[in-house]
Amino acid sequence: MYRRNGIVSTMTNRGKLPYHHAFEAAARKATEEHGNFPMLVGIHGDMLVRNVSRVRRRLGSRTLCAVLKGDAYGHGIRLVVPHIARFCSHIAFVDNSEAAAIRAAGTDVKLLRLRIGTPGEIVEAIEKGWNVRETICSRDKVAEVNGIGRRLDRVIEVHVSLDVAGLGRNGLPVDDAGTLREAISFIASRNNLRLASIGCHLPLAAQSTPSDRNDASRRALEKFASIAREIAAMIDLEGKPLPEISAYSSASSSAFGASGILEELGLPCFDRIGNSLFGLTSTAKHPEPGTGQVMHAAALVCDRVFRCSGSTIGYEQTYMVGGEGEEIALLGVGWLTLSRYCQGVGKTETPAFVINDSGGRHLLLGRQSMNIAAIRARDDMGRALSSGDLVYLTTDWGSSEHMPSVPRLCDLLGGVQTEFVTSSFGSSPSSLRFLF
Ligand SMILES: *Cc1c(COP(=O)(O)O)cnc(C)c1O
Repeated sequence: MYRRNGIVSTMTNRGKLPYHHAFEAAARKATEEHGNFPMLVGIHGDMLVRNVSRVRRRLGSRTLCAVLKGDAYGHGIRLVVPHIARFCSHIAFVDNSEAAAIRAAGTDVKLLRLRIGTPGEIVEAIEKGWNVRETICSRDKVAEVNGIGRRLDRVIEVHVSLDVAGLGRNGLPVDDAGTLREAISFIASRNNLRLASIGCHLPLAAQSTPSDRNDASRRALEKFASIAREIAAMIDLEGKPLPEISAYSSASSSAFGASGILEELGLPCFDRIGNSLFGLTSTAKHPEPGTGQVMHAAALVCDRVFRCSGSTIGYEQTYMVGGEGEEIALLGVGWLTLSRYCQGVGKTETPAFVINDSGGRHLLLGRQSMNIAAIRARDDMGRALSSGDLVYLTTDWGSSEHMPSVPRLCDLLGGVQTEFVTSSFGSSPSSLRFLF
């Protein structure tokens, strides 16, 4: 067995998938460079490229705005951007640190801030020359951003989001046509603003039935299209360049992308896609076909102990050792990395598993702790883990129905969002994140 810097080749090479070799080699290298961590989070570059190019192809005439908020949903913006920028017309971000990282990668892709910026963030973005399109959705913010533009002698591109579907934040209200028209003509007439895009967000898209003419998201989208047409006509009358249309998240793009409702407007159209790029929609009602998981999180075994029949494991004594007693492997990560909310893993009615690099399953035993996880040391083939071995907490490699993909783990955790799991693993202080 090969041991160095805490990364050990696992039980046997037999049955190992090729990706595991690449993962382990990259983990070893990252450990040598950055030190030892109990959790190893590999970002699979080839899969990322495959996902992004598939999404790109599906969008047809619409262009791709990659949503990289939350440090690319925990995948690490610095690792992700160099792989995907060439497929994108836009990249959407939230915090200035993300904008800095995107520009540091040397891409001149259009940048869109997904939420409303604070005055300080907006000024900093201008002073740093990042060329950010700012989201605005109130008259006051329009005046504020125009004032910033005037003071710094710049024309600031703005993105106006319309609250057509009841998201109730980040959007201009649309129920009063007069007020909306007045707000748009106010923007259109300011010298230091340019209305660069109009968008909407469909909060019910993941559950929608697009073929149903009464579907709430479909109706919201049709409403959006008719308002966008009016706005474009107003902008045209002012003699200003026509805005782009920005539609959809992963779920709504998959559900409504082929409907043509927006293409009919004849405006340039881009889809804002987050989860699909990372292969996290496999269990969704509107999955993105052919995408695979980009994040693979593995933990190191820190010890193996024997417990006699009748002893209990975990909070609330949720697991009892049976038979002749059992060997228990302890992983050097706990579920605080996923917040206390997630301590239920292993206590669910469906048994939860982690897998070794041959695809063998290890049952999670009882309700887990915040800094250590207990699993059955032997997999279903009877092979035992030792201290220093790796097991995967989330991966979609292998074929087991118990494979711990991120979406499946989210179900076991009581239906949490996939991006919650990936950002918790990716940005946890226990994690060493690297590309492989
Ligand atoms: C997060 C977000 C998206 C992307 O959502 P996914 O479901 O991850 O694709 C799109 N638009 C806005 C405004 C968002 O905040």
